[in-house]
Amino acid sequence: MCGILGYTGNRQASEILLNGLAKLEYRGYDSAGLAVMNDGKIMIEKNKGRLQTLREKINNGKNILGTCGIGHTRWATHGEPSDTNAHPLWSDDLSVVAVHNGIVENYKDLKLKLTEHGYKFYSQTDTEAAVKLIDYFYKQNKNPLNAITEAIKNIEGSYCFVLLFKDFPDEVWGVRKDNPLIAGQGEGESFLASDVSAILQDTRKVYYLDNMEIVKLNKGDVRFYDSEGHAVYKKLSTVTWDSQAAEKGGFEHFMMKEIHEQAKAVKDTLHSVIKNNKIDLTDVNLNSDEIKNISQIYIIACGSAYHAGVVAQYVIEDLAKIPVRVELASEFRYRNMPLEKNSLAIIISQSGETADTLAAMRLAKNNNIKTLAIVNVVGSTIAREADKVFYTLAGPEIAVATTKAYSAQLIACYILAVEFAKVLNRIDDEKYLYLIDELNKLPEKIDEVLDEKERIKELAGSFVDSEGAFYLGRNIDYAAAMEGSLKMKEISYIHSEACAAGEMKHGPISLIERGMLIVGIMTQKNLYAKTASNMIEAKSRGGFLLSVITRGSEILREESNFIFYVPEIDDHFSASLAVIPLQLLGYYVAVARKLDVDKPRNLAKSVTVE
Ligand code: GLU
Repeated sequence: MCGILGYTGNRQASEILLNGLAKLEYRGYDSAGLAVMNDGKIMIEKNKGRLQTLREKINNGKNILGTCGIGHTRWATHGEPSDTNAHPLWSDDLSVVAVHNGIVENYKDLKLKLTEHGYKFYSQTDTEAAVKLIDYFYKQNKNPLNAITEAIKNIEGSYCFVLLFKDFPDEVWGVRKDNPLIAGQGEGESFLASDVSAILQDTRKVYYLDNMEIVKLNKGDVRFYDSEGHAVYKKLSTVTWDSQAAEKGGFEHFMMKEIHEQAKAVKDTLHSVIKNNKIDLTDVNLNSDEIKNISQIYIIACGSAYHAGVVAQYVIEDLAKIPVRVELASEFRYRNMPLEKNSLAIIISQSGETADTLAAMRLAKNNNIKTLAIVNVVGSTIAREADKVFYTLAGPEIAVATTKAYSAQLIACYILAVEFAKVLNRIDDEKYLYLIDELNKLPEKIDEVLDEKERIKELAGSFVDSEGAFYLGRNIDYAAAMEGSLKMKEISYIHSEACAAGEMKHGPISLIERGMLIVGIMTQKNLYAKTASNMIEAKSRGGFLLSVITRGSEILREESNFIFYVPEIDDHFSASLAVIPLQLLGYYVAVARKLDVDKPRNLAKSVTVE
């Protein structure tokens, strides 16, 4: 998920790798490492922590000589950040040394099979299983291309591997699936990198690898193969972007890039726990007996994570019939709340370092309440201290306003809800399979919504000078409204409020003025009509109605000033689609107001103070 680099040519590799990795630092990482080949010997250096530490350790590269090498910045997904788990990882005799970005989903099965063939494992990573699998095939006929093509037939998940084979001194190999990799062409030298920003100082000539394509570099010679090992021809492109634009992958802001990474974040998170159409929570360390014992759930979080918790409350209560309370961490920690003995506290935090959330979790633990953390950063404090951890696999998030981490948190919550419902016999097998099927449709449907982003962009222009907005909904739509409203206020600085639609008439309605933006979310079939009435009440007081509605419904067709249809999905999961146009709206209004979208004023990404 983070940074990857390869170099072969006539210059010293380690210096080029260190400089290139520095250009990838913006992607966020927890460890760094490199391997350089010299006279058939491969030297490896790696450590947890900053790239600067690595740089100092190897004296700016002067201690590791050689003109062919690979480098890596890691964002841990399997195994905590540590020197051992840092990449590169190697086969026992160092025949194969590799770096990896992504997730090997079937690493447990692979490990098991490889163990039968005598392989031993020294790290906790998923990557090591893949490296040793490549080694296994490599040992058969010492052919790197053959080893890679055979291995990728057996590796499930998303990956970009960059590899050195000890017996091929000037060669660097790469292969990708659902993780980025580009090849750069220089004079008598060539490069592999996660994105062009890492190599722009050396070349602007690049090849973009397609999924499942393999690349071989040998100094200035760059060749490509398909997944069967047949040679393929690729066109060389010239990059015209500056390095800042390159970091953002061509998007104007990180936030927009991350909005587009949501389908992947959702898919990766789903794939980490759904195996053969069944939910498998062994990695979370939660078993059926424990689930059967839960009489009450507390969900504790702040900000957007709290909003994910509000969605979870509706979904868990409806599917699993376990009572749920959602608590703001900053309130929970100072309230002397009588806590149910057999309860489960679900703690949600992107960074895993949120001060209030951490304190609230400790309070729950001190009261002998079991804690389950939904966290994005492996090895973070909340992840370490919680009894159980469900990692969201959103990858590093750079924009302060969360999008993809929130979407991944929703997935973790849905998974828990469906599993609880199944274990408690609240749903039958048919419903269970249907819900899993619906979950699997989400990534594609998220992209479908994004295909229509231009419509929201056009609309946003009209609200540049808005003084306020209301976001209305009921049930899960209310939870989505909360998140949409937060997006608007945090990046566009327009005052906005989310309101349970039925509450409007109890006060907030008096604030409506001519032209005020009223966003109504209507994805809950049994409540369409109720929210629609509240929207019409707002309209008759001058509101401008933007309706976000499930496709196929005729509701508010006449009365809305603007309708955005989201694809159909089971009602329980609709927040995942409804939130997308709301994120886009906040984003485009902020852009139209020429604001610093990625770093909004007064806000920090990881809130480590009270
Ligand atoms: N899944 C691998 C690990 O945890 C690679 C992580 C990355 O993309 O940096 O080591």
